[in-house]
Amino acid sequence: EVILSVKDLTADVGDTQILKGLNLEIKAGEIHAIMGPNGSGKSTFSKILAGHPAYKVTAGEVTFRGQNLLEMEPDDRAKSGVFLAFQYPLEIPGVSNLDFLRVSYNAKRKQEGLEELDSFDFDELVRTKLDLLKMDAAFLSRSVNEGFSGGEKKRNEILQMALLEPKLGILDEIDSGLDIDALKIVANGVNQLRKFDNAILMITHYQRLLDYIVPDFVHVMEGGRILTTGGKELAFELEARGYEWVREEEAAEV
Ligand code: ADP
Ligand code: MG
Ligand code: MG
Repeated sequence: EVILSVKDLTADVGDTQILKGLNLEIKAGEIHAIMGPNGSGKSTFSKILAGHPAYKVTAGEVTFRGQNLLEMEPDDRAKSGVFLAFQYPLEIPGVSNLDFLRVSYNAKRKQEGLEELDSFDFDELVRTKLDLLKMDAAFLSRSVNEGFSGGEKKRNEILQMALLEPKLGILDEIDSGLDIDALKIVANGVNQLRKFDNAILMITHYQRLLDYIVPDFVHVMEGGRILTTGGKELAFELEARGYEWVREEEAAEV
C-alpha cells in the first residue's frame, strides 16, 4: 500500500518559493529519512504535510492512502493518521499532559467510529506507553511540555505518537538536543512503533540517528527538492563527504 505520494510539489512562504518540485513515495512498512543542509526546506515540507497554514502549496499533488491530503483540514489529517512530531514542540501552559493526550486520542477513536475511552481505561493505556519511553508518570499531571527539558519534550512527542498509532509518523529532527541515552530511548520507542501497515518519515541533519532507527531509504534534499535517493549507506557517505558531491553529481546529470 502506498501511504504517501508526493508529486512535483511546490510551495511558498510569503513571496518566497521554498519547495521547488518535490517528489517522494512512501509505502507501508517503510522508514524513510530525509537529510539535507539547513534551510533546504525539510521542516517546511513536514509542516505542509501536517497542514500548517503559513505555507501555500502552489502546484503538485500529495495523496495520503489514496486521498488528496491537500484538501483535508489539518485536524482531519491528524485524525486520519498523519502525525508530525515537531522540531520545537509547543508548550501549552494550563493544559495537563494527560488531558491533552486523552483528547487527541479520543478524537482519533471517534474518527474511527469507536467509543471514547473513559479516564480509567485511558490511564491504563497511557501507562503502558510511558513504560515504553521510560517516562515517569509525573509527566502526565504537568502542563504540556511546560518546563520539560529538550529530551523530555521529544519523548513526549513520541509518547503522543505511541498513543495515536499514526499511519504516517513524521519526525522532524527528533534527535536534536538529545544526549546519547535519551536518543537511544526515543529511537527504541520509534522502532517499537514500526509496523507492516504504517510508515515513518524521519528528518534529520545527522547520520547518528540512523544508527538507531535504520531507514530503508535515504533522500537528500536541497533547495526544496530531493536531489538523490539511496539506501542507508547513503547516510554514511553524506557523513563522510558532506553534501557538496551530491550537488556536483546532480549538476553533471543535467
Ligand atoms: P530546514 O528544515 O531544511 O532547515 P526550513 O524548511 O526550516 O529548512 O526552511 C527553508 C527555508 O524557508 C529557509 O530559508 C527558511 O528561512 C524559510 N522559511 C521557512 N519557514 C518560513 C516562514 N514561516 N517565514 C519565512 N521564511 C521561512
Ligand atoms: Mg533547520
Ligand atoms: Mg528544520
